[in-house]
Amino acid sequence: KKIIIAIDGFSSTGKSTLAKQIAQKLSYVYVDTGAMYRAVTLFAMRNKLISENKFEKEKLINSLNSIELSFKFNEKLGFGEAYLNGENVEKVIRSIEVSNFVSRIAEISEVRRKLVEQQQRMGLEKGIVMDGRDIGTVVFPNAALKLFMNASADTRAKRRFDELSKRGDKVSYQEILENVQLRDHIDSTRDDSPLVKAKDAIEIDNSNLTLEEQFKKVLEIVEN
Ligand code: C5P
Repeated sequence: KKIIIAIDGFSSTGKSTLAKQIAQKLSYVYVDTGAMYRAVTLFAMRNKLISENKFEKEKLINSLNSIELSFKFNEKLGFGEAYLNGENVEKVIRSIEVSNFVSRIAEISEVRRKLVEQQQRMGLEKGIVMDGRDIGTVVFPNAALKLFMNASADTRAKRRFDELSKRGDKVSYQEILENVQLRDHIDSTRDDSPLVKAKDAIEIDNSNLTLEEQFKKVLEIVEN
């Protein structure tokens, strides 16, 4: 029987890595909801609706209908890449610039409503692993399995730093640490759908787990 697996948690706790592993193992569809909030942020940046000293919230809300998000499965990578109005944005949405604005975009109720609706539609085809901040609490409160991931801020910043450095981005460890802490703060204190652990979610702290150890642990949970 195919189920919905919801994975939530703080920034850079390895949610997407784990979600991809599970999806591949079970032949499930993986949906990265953070990519959707990031793509809306990219749209806002490109249309000069958000910058260091400006935030045209109303204009963004009024342009939501001209934002079309989708995922297209990439055989080589083994997961769906994010598309914004037909353009593959999988790589650009991971930049530190997008990361620095995304939590402010994710606070907007109208943005959340649009994305949550689309996420719920994706869940109609069962056999789905979805990761984000509000999947077990808001998007799929009845998900059969909910995981809540955590790790120390330092572990998380190091992981993100290695990831971005590997692809050639010029960012400092300090800048990433600050971004991770700022996003966690905004994400957990916003009015609409703040990041909290669902009551029935299983918490996993992976500060001291290798990827293999974590995957093994989660597979045991899934198979029970
Ligand atoms: O998962 P990722 O770190 O890519 O998410 C980027 C940002 O998008 C988060 O920091 C959060 O502000 C927002 N987000 C959200 N709800 C989700 C997924 C992501 O608010 N379900």
